[in-house]
Amino acid sequence: MRASRLLRDHARRGHPSAFIPPPLRVMVAMVKQTRKPGDALRGELRLHEPMARHTSWRAGGTAERAYSPADLADLREFLRGVPAGEPVHMVGLGSNLLVRDGGLRGTVIFTHPALGAMRLGGAGAGASEGEIYAETGVASPRVARFAALHGLAGAEFLAGIPGTVGGALAMNAGCFGGEAWDIVARAETVDRSGALHTRTPADYEIAYRHVMLKEEGGRKKAEGIHPSEEWFVAAYFRLRAGDAEESRRKIKELLRRRIATQPLNQPNAGSVFRNPQRDYAARLIEACGLKGRTIGGAQISGKHANFVVNLGSARAADIEALIELAENAVREKFGIALEREVRIVGET
Ligand SMILES: Cc1cc2nc3c(=O)[nH]c(=O)nc-3n(C[C@H](O)[C@H](O)[C@H](O)COP(=O)(O)OP(=O)(O)OC[C@H]3O[C@@H](n4cnc5c(N)ncnc54)[C@H](O)[C@@H]3O)c2cc1C
Repeated sequence: MRASRLLRDHARRGHPSAFIPPPLRVMVAMVKQTRKPGDALRGELRLHEPMARHTSWRAGGTAERAYSPADLADLREFLRGVPAGEPVHMVGLGSNLLVRDGGLRGTVIFTHPALGAMRLGGAGAGASEGEIYAETGVASPRVARFAALHGLAGAEFLAGIPGTVGGALAMNAGCFGGEAWDIVARAETVDRSGALHTRTPADYEIAYRHVMLKEEGGRKKAEGIHPSEEWFVAAYFRLRAGDAEESRRKIKELLRRRIATQPLNQPNAGSVFRNPQRDYAARLIEACGLKGRTIGGAQISGKHANFVVNLGSARAADIEALIELAENAVREKFGIALEREVRIVGET
């Protein structure tokens, strides 16, 4: 694939950091390393894939192997061939993820854009509620817009979360009073053998930015990027009948507030820490005098202290050092242990 086309594709995919093109040398290396993993598979397997290309922080190390499936059937086929014990990391738009500079062992699988189907389901016209089926590679803001278009209310908050449906399910992502699992009727998952499962919210422990499959008959939970041996492949969102115009107005207002308060013109991964009960991580970090503090190429944002931004040349180690600095300062000054919302994986 020509480098110019790669660039265009990257921008079209709407990645939160699409405004920063990957360096040319990375794109050329990517093309060289592209190869087909086997006859039965239709996706692309790449070796030593730079994860800075796939994370909104635009920093970090490489993945040993990276697979972009062609579709859900291809993903299932691929999983069947992954050797037992090999770590598997499902990645959406990488908007909540930092891969350390030493890289990530095992195989990363990208759900976006392959798992991209979305359609209306459930009740017909005139019903008081309706369903949207979305595969987990669909960007969450697309679900918000699709729901508004079809006069379904309750998904507007997803417009402010620049990840995939899979990431929103894994994180129980939320903002402006809404959380992903508030509107999930059921989810479909795939396991390492490629088998599909239908899950309901009752199958999970669900809390603020926390989702964990409950132990099922002693089923082993894998270490690593996702706590279970299952990954989300689709969700059914149950939404109430609403007013398309009102939903569009809410989305516009939500985005206006985000632009006003968040450093969206610099690579970041949203809020680094969960808010402690009855307080705000940003307030605590700011009170420690850390707003604007820089380490290497990373900075605690001067606009929002719970955001760490990449000034252009940050290594993952710079970002992690700032995160540790904030944790230590808040613990010392307030006796509060901040909990990380962002997922940090890989080797130093
Ligand atoms: C500017 C900005 C603003 C943000 N604002 C918010 C906000 O308001 N509220 C909020 O909650 N978050 C926010 N975030 C964080 C982030 O967008 C969300 O957590 C989002 O849901 C992550 O989705 P993703 O596809 O990017 O996931 P990734 O970053 O790719 O992955 C995050 C985690 O989810 C797991 N995962 C991804 N896909 C799957 C899958 N299919 N099955 C199982 N596990 C999976 C990954 O393994 C990883 O552990 C913001 C981020 C940015 C950059």
